[in-house]
Amino acid sequence: MVDRAGALTALVLGSAAGGGFPQWNCGCRLCALARAGDSRVRPATQASVAVSGDGQSWVVVGASPDLREQILRTPALQPRGGPRDSPIAGVVLIGADVDALAGLLVLRERQRLDVFAPRPILDLLAANQIFDVLDPALVRRIEVVPLEPMPGGGGVTLTMLPMPGKIPLYREDRAATQPEAGPTYAAKLEAHGRSVIVAPACAEITEEVRARLRADVVFFDGTLFRDDEMIVAGLGEKTGRRMGHVPIAGPGGTLDRLGDLPGRRIFLHINNTNPILLAGSPERSAVEAAGFEVAYDGMEVRL
Ligand SMILES: [Zn+2]
Repeated sequence: MVDRAGALTALVLGSAAGGGFPQWNCGCRLCALARAGDSRVRPATQASVAVSGDGQSWVVVGASPDLREQILRTPALQPRGGPRDSPIAGVVLIGADVDALAGLLVLRERQRLDVFAPRPILDLLAANQIFDVLDPALVRRIEVVPLEPMPGGGGVTLTMLPMPGKIPLYREDRAATQPEAGPTYAAKLEAHGRSVIVAPACAEITEEVRARLRADVVFFDGTLFRDDEMIVAGLGEKTGRRMGHVPIAGPGGTLDRLGDLPGRRIFLHINNTNPILLAGSPERSAVEAAGFEVAYDGMEVRL
C-alpha cells in the first residue's frame, strides 16, 4: 500500500475532455494514432480527479461516464472490506456537461455518499429524474455556496470557485451563436496547509479568474491548443471559446494569461484533437517550455 497519510494527494482518474481519447467515432490523426497503439500518445478517459487529505477516504471531482472503469483500475478507490464499502466519501460536481455529471449514475448500488454541488447543478439533478436512482436515504445532496469553504469529505476543505462558462450543450438553443452563461466552477481542495484546484472548464481568463487560481497545484482547462482547432480539423463549427474553453495558445490564451502563475500548472480535460497529446510535437514542447505540465490518467500529485 502507498502511504498517503499526512499529505494532500490528487490522483488523476481521467485527463481527457468529453469523448475521451480516442473518441469512439473520431477519425482525427491523434485518435487514429491512439487506436493504433502508437507509443507517442497515451489513451485517456474523461476528466476526473480524486483528492484525499488523509490517504484513506477520497472526494472525486467531476463524475465522468468513465468513472466505473476509473475506479476499477485505481486500488485506492476499491472496497476495503464488508459487504458494501467504498473509500469514496464524496463527489464534487463542478459542471453540468455530460462528461462532468453522467458518472453519478455509475455510483448507484446502495452506497453511502455525499454529492457536493452548487445550487444550479443541484437544480439540474433535481430536474432529471434518472438521478433519483441514487437513493436519497444514502446519497446526500449538499449545496456548496461559492467562495465559502466547507468540509468536503476525504479530510479536505472544499471551496467552489465560479468560472466563466456556458450552459451544457443539451440545454442550449442549438441555433444560438453566442453562448449563454451557465454553471461552471473550479473546486479548490485544501489540507495540511496545501491546496489543489481542479478547473477543467474556463471560457476566459479574467483578472478575477487569475486571482482565484492561487494554489500549490492548478489543474486547468487544456481542451484545445488553438481556438479554431475543431474548425481547422473539419470536426466542428465552433471555436473553443464558443464551447466554453479558453485555448492554450494565442492572445488571451492560457500560456499568455497564466504563464506567470505561481505553483504547478497542469493541463487537464484535453480534447483528442489537441496536439499536446503527442509526445515530441512542437505544441507539447511549447507548453513544457512555458512551465506547464500535461496530465495523464494515473498521474499522482502528493503535497
Ligand atoms: Zn479525435
